[in-house]
Amino acid sequence: MKYPIIKNYINGQFVTVTSSPRTLDVVSPLDGNKLSEVPMSTGKDLNEALLAAKAAFPSWSRTPIKERVQIFFRYRSLLEKNLKELAELCSEENGKTYSESVAEVEKSIELTEFATSLPQLVTGEILEVSRGVECRTEHVPLGVVASIVPFNFPNMVPNWTMPNALALGNCMILKPSEKVPLSCVRLAELLKEAGLPDGVLNIVNGDVEIVEAICDHPDIDAVSFVGSTKVAKIVYQRATSHYKRCLALGGAKNHLMVLPDAKPEMTAQNVAASMSGCAGQRCMAASAMVAVGNVDHIIDKICIEARKIVPGVNLGAVINKESQHRIERYITEAEKAGAKILVDGRNIKVPGKEGGTYVGPTVIDYVRREMSVAKEEIFGPVISIMRTNTVDEALAIENANPYGNAASVFTQNGGMARYIIDHASAGMIGVNVGVPVPREPFSFGGWNESKFGVGDITGKSSIEFWTKLKKSTTKWNPEAGVNWMS
Ligand code: NAD
Repeated sequence: MKYPIIKNYINGQFVTVTSSPRTLDVVSPLDGNKLSEVPMSTGKDLNEALLAAKAAFPSWSRTPIKERVQIFFRYRSLLEKNLKELAELCSEENGKTYSESVAEVEKSIELTEFATSLPQLVTGEILEVSRGVECRTEHVPLGVVASIVPFNFPNMVPNWTMPNALALGNCMILKPSEKVPLSCVRLAELLKEAGLPDGVLNIVNGDVEIVEAICDHPDIDAVSFVGSTKVAKIVYQRATSHYKRCLALGGAKNHLMVLPDAKPEMTAQNVAASMSGCAGQRCMAASAMVAVGNVDHIIDKICIEARKIVPGVNLGAVINKESQHRIERYITEAEKAGAKILVDGRNIKVPGKEGGTYVGPTVIDYVRREMSVAKEEIFGPVISIMRTNTVDEALAIENANPYGNAASVFTQNGGMARYIIDHASAGMIGVNVGVPVPREPFSFGGWNESKFGVGDITGKSSIEFWTKLKKSTTKWNPEAGVNWMS
C-alpha cells in the first residue's frame, strides 16, 4: 500500500476514523495496485466535523471577504507550485493521463481565480427609496454547507465548490468519492498552508451512510452534489425533504450533431477527443453522434483519429473492473442488436500494466434510437452514431433524451448553428466545440435530468446558491411624524 490509510480532516487535523471498522480499498486503475484504504465514517464522525465547522463559522463569516480571499490567492499559488505532484496523484487514483490531470489542476487554478474575484461581484445594492430612507442588499453566508463529489475529477470538482463557498463565508463538510479520496487530502493540506482557519473546511470520508447523514443533519444548511442522476435524485429529494437548499448535478448523454458542411478534419479531431478524453468519463463527453445526411467522409476520419488513441499511452484507464465490464457489455449488446462496430475497444491489455482497467476508443455506427447505447450514459470512450436525414430529426433525438448537460453542432452554417442553439434541450451548447464547458466567469450547469435545483454550480450563478440575501431598510433623518413612505 503506497499511502497510509486515509483519515478524516476535522478542525484542521487529520484524525483516524474509529467509529466503524469498515474500509474500502483505493486501487489505481492504471495498474490495479492498491494505493490506500478509505474509512467509512458514521454519523458520529459527521457530528464531530459539524462541531468544528459550527465553532469556526462566527469568526469566519465575520471576516471581511477581501480578507477571506487572500487565502485563495495563496491557495492558487500553491496549486501552481504543486501542480506536477497534484497531477501525478490525480492520475494515479483516477486513471486519467498525466496531461489530462495537468489540465484538471489548471482548471482548479482558474476556479480559484474566480473565487478571488468575488469581492468585485458581491458588492450588494443600495438605493434611497424615499427621502432619507435607504434599502440595501447584502449577500450573507448560509452557515455550514456540504459538498458531495464524484470520482471522475478528484481535483477539479472539489474546487467547483470549495473556493466559492468558503470565500463567500461558509464553512464546509466535504465528502470525497470513496474511489478517489487522495487528492482531497492534498487540497486540504494546501488550504491549511494558505492560511485557512481550522474548522472552516472539514473532510468526512465514506459512502452511502455518510451521504444520508449529511442530507438528514439539521445543522447543515445547503448540500451540493455532483454524481450520477440516480444518486442526484436521491440526494435532492432527501436533502430538500429536510428543507435544505440543494443543487444536485447528475449524469449525461451528450449529443453531437454533424452536418455535411462541417470541416472534416476539425470535426473528426473534436469528436474523437470529446468521446475519449478522460477515457470518456466526463459528464461533458460526447456519447451520441447524430450524422445528418451523408457525412461518411467525416465518420471515416473519426475512425482514423480514434485509432490514433492508444490505451496506456494517450488514453487513460476507466475507474475499475466493474466499469470496464459494463462498458464492454454495452458494446457487445449493440453489436448483437445489429449496430456496426467500426473501431472496437474491447479486451484491451496494456503491456506491463495487466492489472489496469482499460477500454480502447470505440466507434459504433448504425445505432438505432431504441438501443441501450443510444439512450444510456455509458461513461467510457464510446461514441454511438445514429443516422438521420434532417436537422429536425437530429434535434428530435437530442430532445428526447432525458439528460441535458451538453449538445454540440458541427457546421459552417451560422443560421443552422443558431437554430440548433435555440432548439437543443441542454444547458451547455457547443458550435464546432466538442466539450462546451463554459470557462469562468460563466457558470456550469445542465438541464433536465442532468441537474436538480435552481442555478448553476460555478461562476456568477453559484453566488446565489452559497449565500442568502439580507435586505435592510434604514432611516436616519431626524424629522418626526414622517413615515417611511415620505
Ligand atoms: P455516483 O453517483 O456513484 O457517486 C457520487 C457520490 O455519491 C460519491 O461521493 C458517492 O460516495 C455517493 N454515493 C454513491 N451512491 C450513493 C447512494 N446510493 N446514496 C448516497 N450517496 C451515494 O457518481 P460517480 O460514479 O462517482 O461519478 C460519475 C457520475 O457523475 C456520472 O454519472 C457523471 O456523469 C456524473 N458527473 C456529473 C457531472 C455534472 O456536472 N453534471 C460532473 C461530474 C460527474
